[in-house]
Amino acid sequence: LMGFVGFANLPNQVHRKSVRKGFQFTTMVVGESGLGKSTLINTLFNTTLYPPKETLPPSAERPSTVAIESISADIEESGVRLRLTVVDTPGFGDFVNNDESWKPIVENIEARFDSYLEQENRVNRQKIMDNRIHACLYFIQPTGHSLKPIDVECMRQLHTKVNLIPIIAKADTLTDEEVVEFKARILADIAYHNIHIFQAPVYENEDDEAIAEAEEIASKIPFAVVGSDQEVTTPDGRKVRGRAYPWGVVEVDNEDHCDFVKLRQMLVRTYMEELREYTNDVLYENWRTEKLISMGV
Ligand code: GDP
Ligand code: MG
Repeated sequence: LMGFVGFANLPNQVHRKSVRKGFQFTTMVVGESGLGKSTLINTLFNTTLYPPKETLPPSAERPSTVAIESISADIEESGVRLRLTVVDTPGFGDFVNNDESWKPIVENIEARFDSYLEQENRVNRQKIMDNRIHACLYFIQPTGHSLKPIDVECMRQLHTKVNLIPIIAKADTLTDEEVVEFKARILADIAYHNIHIFQAPVYENEDDEAIAEAEEIASKIPFAVVGSDQEVTTPDGRKVRGRAYPWGVVEVDNEDHCDFVKLRQMLVRTYMEELREYTNDVLYENWRTEKLISMGV
């Protein structure tokens, strides 16, 4: 499972050292209903964790996610153990009142901080489970227009608590030019609304290959992704993960078609350690300080 990713070969020494012990990494997916969040989780884990559509009656869609639920996999690569968890959330639009769709999500993130703080305060701190959210993939509808008010509001509620990584959902519904324009538009909106998204650092003292990899990843944000749990056959006869159209096949794992490979590389390889560090040193620390002050400690 995901052994091809290469997280055991993290680019620099700092990574290798902290990684040797075995570690936990948790990603959360957030966004409107129907944008392909659950499908992308399946695509990330490279397996069908939800019932495939074929087993449902022909007219039925995959049931929409109604509660916050998480899926974990233990991955081992070159002796390095990683417990990867993805937290799926119900989409906005699944609520009667959409004004506060972000509320249960923020509460879930804070409950994870609470649990960590509680473990830190125990006498025996040997076996701390880190279930904090290290990365939050925020799904944006591929409208080609600006961010919706609900997205602005939700991102602003989340950005002080998680590493936000914006994602253009269902990128196969946009042309290449539309993707380029929409990315610029989203970044401009994000800057205008003072939303803080994860900044992928590029380290000068890395080798050239690592710097190139980091710069390329940074240049793809917001990632334009395509998810699929179906195998399809390309016109030249290859079996790939993708989506078939009368005009051709959009391949999930083809970097000329979408940014899925770059997104996965960012999460489980290039920036995993930075995402964990920023969560611990900045996001959790700020939350903890505020919490202790509010308790009068
Ligand atoms: P969620 O509500 O965000 O979890 O969305 P789902 O994963 O349940 O997907 C909703 C619908 O969108 C399903 O019919 C999927 O097959 C479809 N879908 C998922 N990902 C993509 C994608 O990348 N492109 C396109 N065109 N459709 C997608
Ligand atoms: Mg879902």
